Amino acid sequence: MITVEEAEKIILAQTAEYGVEIVPFEMSLGRVLAENIKTDRDLPPFNRVTMDGIAVKYEAIENGISTFHIKATQAAGDQPIEIDEHNECVEIMTGAMLPSSADTVIRYEDLELRAGLATLVTSEIKKDQNIHHRGKDKKLDDIVAGVGEVITPALISLIASVGESEVRVKKMPRVAIISSGDELVDVAETPSPYQIRRSNSYTIQAVLKQNNLDADLLHIPDDPAIIKKQLSNCLQNYDVLLLSGGISMGKFDHIPKALEELSVKTLFHKVQQRPGKPFWFGKHENGVLVFAFPGNPVATFMCVYRYFLPWLHTASGQLTKPPRFAVLNNRFSFQPQLKCFLQVKLYNNEHCQLMAIPVEGNGSGDFANLADADAFMELPLERNEFKKGEVFRIWQF
Ligand code: AMP
Ligand code: MG
Repeated sequence: MITVEEAEKIILAQTAEYGVEIVPFEMSLGRVLAENIKTDRDLPPFNRVTMDGIAVKYEAIENGISTFHIKATQAAGDQPIEIDEHNECVEIMTGAMLPSSADTVIRYEDLELRAGLATLVTSEIKKDQNIHHRGKDKKLDDIVAGVGEVITPALISLIASVGESEVRVKKMPRVAIISSGDELVDVAETPSPYQIRRSNSYTIQAVLKQNNLDADLLHIPDDPAIIKKQLSNCLQNYDVLLLSGGISMGKFDHIPKALEELSVKTLFHKVQQRPGKPFWFGKHENGVLVFAFPGNPVATFMCVYRYFLPWLHTASGQLTKPPRFAVLNNRFSFQPQLKCFLQVKLYNNEHCQLMAIPVEGNGSGDFANLADADAFMELPLERNEFKKGEVFRIWQF
């Protein structure tokens, strides 16, 4: 049996290139950039007025002028109106281009306006005030977002402002989520007293959706011939298969054998962890990756966060995010020689430290408990006792 770290290494070594696609920029939220986004002009592109008021030449104020004739009004988007005399001003709005004949903007709050005249009611005027100068934020051709960056709402704003109506992003792998088990019925069905509804595939689908990946769902019964036929089909049509169930020691756990018969090479089977010990991972000769998670809902959930998402982020060329940590809030014991992924609830204590309270459920079948937890805390394999106040890595969900 391999360790969590060995399993992770084997999985992350399976890099693959799924290509690039062009999408409308409004549809690119959460996608990974496959091109550098550059400015097509300086940002801001002109000396931009940042307060509603008047534009004047500072020299006039230095020369003791405190009342100005309002020559005209310039709205944002208007062509600049130049002033000719020192005692003239232009009434000007936020967002307008500063006329080249002016160098200072005085806000309405510092003025008294009457009969076409604007009079200063403050002596606190500085040259250049209330102007956002051309190119102060970015220069023409500066890179504002680079390859590998995940597109956030703030990046959408930059992409829009530089006129990139379409962006090149990394293509996502085609993923099938396959549940298995004769005891499982569809959500809309009424289970018999000895059946349950299937939920895992929908959970995985929801996690993938949060990561911008639309996956197809499929359910297969515990029948070796049907399993083989359906998996064979999927191996032709997808880049990644995410299976849940059918890989343990049970009499009807036919999946590992079926995969092997279909030329999917086992890269590992079983990881020193709880939940999720039976986790199976392999690769087909045509490159398709198969993550086969144990059917227990908590095990499946943990494996998706601990293994599949890091692989997806690596494969899509995302810049790596730093790991996150939290402080254990209560002492905790765990005896098995397995790495424990402890479900925890997170909160910030009075010193703003991120604290983790164990939310112990009834094992890996207790998915009701998952809804009360915020993260898995990954506890070191070598130890059995974990003290209150110790810091460990978390996987937030
Ligand atoms: P297995 O890994 O197939 O032995 O399944 C382990 C446990 O997880 C069994 O109690 C199954 O009924 C349950 N299980 C398997 N697949 C699902 C699923 N898709 N949704 C909910 N529970 C499942
Ligand atoms: Mg099963």
